[in-house]
Amino acid sequence: MSQVIYSFNFIDMATIFTKIIQKEIPAGRGLVYEDDQIMAFYDIHPIAPVHILIIPKKEIASINDLEDADQALIGKMVLVARNIARDLNISEKGYKLLFRVGEYGGQEVSHIHLHLIGGARLHEDIRPV
Ligand code: AMP
Repeated sequence: MSQVIYSFNFIDMATIFTKIIQKEIPAGRGLVYEDDQIMAFYDIHPIAPVHILIIPKKEIASINDLEDADQALIGKMVLVARNIARDLNISEKGYKLLFRVGEYGGQEVSHIHLHLIGGARLHEDIRPV
């Protein structure tokens, strides 16, 4: 069962990702990768020509909730992102990998997800509001 672990405006959408993992609903705009530990699918509201979410099947709310034992899992997520970038021919020009964490980080879905964003030159605007 998913949890709301923050008291601020942290929308608990973990059930949506859980439902995708459990194949109760299809991955937003399509599945890109799946193995026994990880799934990757197209973000439903893309902000760039390539916008893919890489998620662990294990329910972990955010980077703050990682355990030391998750080291290999989180590393594998980065390698999956690298492989997808290579497959989609965006490696050479470059891309961004993004983990949002909590309120100030802008995280909305309480299930860890790595954004792979690319396919165009990207803004560098990460300044405070
Ligand atoms: P974040 O703001 O880092 O928590 O990112 C959450 C992302 O999940 C957003 O970019 C949403 O567009 C995306 N999202 C939410 N629901 C779905 C869904 N059902 N399928 C694919 N992407 C989703």
